[in-house]
Amino acid sequence: MAVRVVSEWLSSCSGCEISILNLGDVILDLIPAKLQLVHIPALVDSKYFGPNGDGTHLTLPECEVGIISGGVRNEEQKEVALELRKKCKFLIALGTCATNGGIPAQANAWDNADVLNKVFKGSITTPPAETPTQVVPKLLDRVYALDEIPGLKVDIYLPGCPPHPDWIAAAILALLDGKTEFKLPERSVCDTCQVIREKKAAGGANIKRSLTNATFEAEEPIQKMRCLMEQGFLCLGPVTLAGCAGKEGNPRCIDARMPCRGCFGPIKKTSNPLVDMMGALTSVGINPQSVPDRRLILNRFIGAHNKLRPLPQRPGMPGPR
Ligand code: SF4
Ligand code: SF4
Ligand code: SF4
Repeated sequence: MAVRVVSEWLSSCSGCEISILNLGDVILDLIPAKLQLVHIPALVDSKYFGPNGDGTHLTLPECEVGIISGGVRNEEQKEVALELRKKCKFLIALGTCATNGGIPAQANAWDNADVLNKVFKGSITTPPAETPTQVVPKLLDRVYALDEIPGLKVDIYLPGCPPHPDWIAAAILALLDGKTEFKLPERSVCDTCQVIREKKAAGGANIKRSLTNATFEAEEPIQKMRCLMEQGFLCLGPVTLAGCAGKEGNPRCIDARMPCRGCFGPIKKTSNPLVDMMGALTSVGINPQSVPDRRLILNRFIGAHNKLRPLPQRPGMPGPR
């Protein structure tokens, strides 16, 4: 019998769903005999309150595999996520928003009143407006990763912004094969990076602005480029889980001659990238204090799990930005 899959998106940008679509032939070969996508809003119009919309409770179809992208930002998303958890046997957290809060969880550094004030009244590009109170779902106090919500157990974590289709395919094929576990190998982006490393900084004691050009020859392969951190750039490769290139290949940003920004999140759930990155910078002679907005930048994709929260205003300092 075919495995039924239900996919939902919460506080997400839909990039993770595009990664599902990028499975291409892998998924087409499985549909419909081995796999059925019974509900996926990115592909088909979905009904939450019965076929005629006259149901009184939000419902999702029963399935073997549930996939959720996006973190949980409001009451409606929480209800959808808990409903899918009830209806599926295995739940996959797809993408760094679902596993660690992702970019939306940068907002966790401020409280809701400050965020709403900034968005509806303090934006320089939009005329001030009242904060909407009708129709829109109630915000939770912050952005939550899926596994922070009581009752929302996650079976498989597939981080990445977005995750590489290779890993989505590998996880689905593992489940089809009767396995109940799947995990990305625990290694860092640096472990898969093929640049030249000399273990000392060439770029001076302070971090360089990311708009500064790195030194490389465009025609030369990546193996001829000096490590970007050693060149003085903030490259989060040492503290970021590898996997963005799929099962093999050079990390995607490094291939584009750009530093890693940490989109796959920490190598282990228990790691603290902020502290570990300070150590990595020091080890090549770069002053960690020279990284601007360290708390936000080094937690850029992982603001859930209380990694980012509003700080009390300090006497004599300006209010929240
Ligand atoms: S992890 Fe990235 S691609 Fe996926 S929903 Fe979040 S922002 Fe979009
Ligand atoms: S710090 Fe960046 S450029 Fe250097 S080895 Fe690690 S991932 Fe590659
Ligand atoms: S290099 Fe880093 S930021 Fe870029 S795609 Fe890979 S993990 Fe994400």
